[in-house]
Amino acid sequence: MAKTVILGAGFSGQYAALILQNALKGRGEHEIVVVNPFPKFTYVPSMIWVGTGQIKAEEAQFDLAPVYERLGILWIQGLATEVHPDENLIVVEPRDGTSRGPQRVTYDYLINATGPHLNFDATPGLGPDKGYTHSICTPPHATDTAHHYLELVRRLEKGERARIVVGTGHGACTCQGAGFEFINLVHNDLADRGLRDRVDLRWLSNEPYPGDFGISGFEIQRGPVVFTSEDMCTAIFRANQIEWTVRSHVHAIDEGVIHTENQDGEQREIPFDFAMLLPPFQGKPIKYLDRNGNDLASKLLNPARFFKVDANYGKPHDEITADDWPRTYQNLDYRNIFAVGIAFAPPGPMSRPCQTPSGAPVSPAIPRTGYTSELTGKAAALNVAELIQGRSPCHTASLAETAGMCIASMKNSWFKGSAAVIGIHPIVRNTSLYPGDGRDVRGGAVEMGLAGAWLKKGLHHAFLYKLAAKPGWKYVP
Ligand SMILES: Cc1cc2nc3c(=O)[nH]c(=O)nc-3n(C[C@H](O)[C@H](O)[C@H](O)COP(=O)(O)OP(=O)(O)OC[C@H]3O[C@@H](n4cnc5c(N)ncnc54)[C@H](O)[C@@H]3O)c2cc1C
Repeated sequence: MAKTVILGAGFSGQYAALILQNALKGRGEHEIVVVNPFPKFTYVPSMIWVGTGQIKAEEAQFDLAPVYERLGILWIQGLATEVHPDENLIVVEPRDGTSRGPQRVTYDYLINATGPHLNFDATPGLGPDKGYTHSICTPPHATDTAHHYLELVRRLEKGERARIVVGTGHGACTCQGAGFEFINLVHNDLADRGLRDRVDLRWLSNEPYPGDFGISGFEIQRGPVVFTSEDMCTAIFRANQIEWTVRSHVHAIDEGVIHTENQDGEQREIPFDFAMLLPPFQGKPIKYLDRNGNDLASKLLNPARFFKVDANYGKPHDEITADDWPRTYQNLDYRNIFAVGIAFAPPGPMSRPCQTPSGAPVSPAIPRTGYTSELTGKAAALNVAELIQGRSPCHTASLAETAGMCIASMKNSWFKGSAAVIGIHPIVRNTSLYPGDGRDVRGGAVEMGLAGAWLKKGLHHAFLYKLAAKPGWKYVP
């Protein structure tokens, strides 16, 4: 009998649990244990709608316990704080309200699917807990953001004016796509309320240009015309009268003022009445210790504390090729450990890393979307199933070989909605597959309109259905 422990029940961990349970069905008495601090799964992409008050957080969640009970998966409501890879042991702090002490949980195989640590501390004054800005990264953050946004709306209705800033709160941020959706949703919401002319709306980002998105942008060719993600974003910003400040790091935030420095060393103070700024992501603050209690971080983690897998690490940006990206998500020092979703360490950023003259990073990190998180979770789960059956890992999900799909919500409505549907192949530029740009520029797609808004709503329901393992979930792509 083999015991697999999965840390985290987000996109990658939850899908890994379902895939592994399915793969091991009828193949002996194997145990799957999920460790997750919260009792609910959250469909994080819909937090953009929660943050603008358009849906409640509960509409993007479901209870995990009944799903696990139905599938025979064990669940520990807790937070992994230590991993001891030499002893195949993790330490879990309970999060179920009991006063029990930390629990020691053994494993034969471990999948780290713990997602991002939201590093608000990287910028003084950033974030809703210790700072002056809002976030849409978690259900409580997005709910709080909606509360403040609707309060602002009430002030606007009384005739006040406001400056709203949306974007990244540090030069090393990722996930610009979520900010891009949020600013356009705010624009359309204010326009629908007849309040748009009372607001100055600004995009603030570490990207080299609007539309870089941490994936070094994208290009789509139609006939002789090449259309870029920068063309798309700047056209949308112009149409929606959104100003932009890019190539910028945020040094600090005071009440009502964001202090920035750009790549040329220009320092700027951007005033705001309401700001939603994303934090930089790090790996979760879990300790990795050897049998003597020595810290294994330098061996197992990259500088941002993401967990190393089967990638080639340490190459300069210009020398990283498609082959350097991970394929099986297996750690090469401890082959019974995998890391997936946002938790795995990429070999480097896709967008060119830069600095300000004062040495601050202006370096968008690569986003790991829900879809890629699922693909990596699935590959790791199937590889664990192979190992359990005495075979080698053979399931791959390289980001340099898989397509990326993103639907950016602009307006959430069944009849008047709009979203940009973007499809690229592959996510990471791969010049051995596509010499030149490294992507299939003729095969890529961007379409904007009501159909996209329906698709975005459809995905919300499809993911919640699939990850709750409802009948036929295996057939939902
Ligand atoms: C606002 C926003 C909008 C987004 N929009 C989109 C979108 O439109 N499309 C898209 O594809 N992607 C989108 N993304 C990205 C997408 O949400 C992520 O790719 C996805 O959530 C990553 O999955 P994950 O499993 O790696 O991490 P998560 O989904 O964050 O899951 C991690 C899980 O691990 C748990 N955990 C954390 N620490 C521990 C620990 N120590 N022990 C045990 N469990 C732990 C957490 O509680 C959580 O349940 C968006 C992200 C944000 C923030």
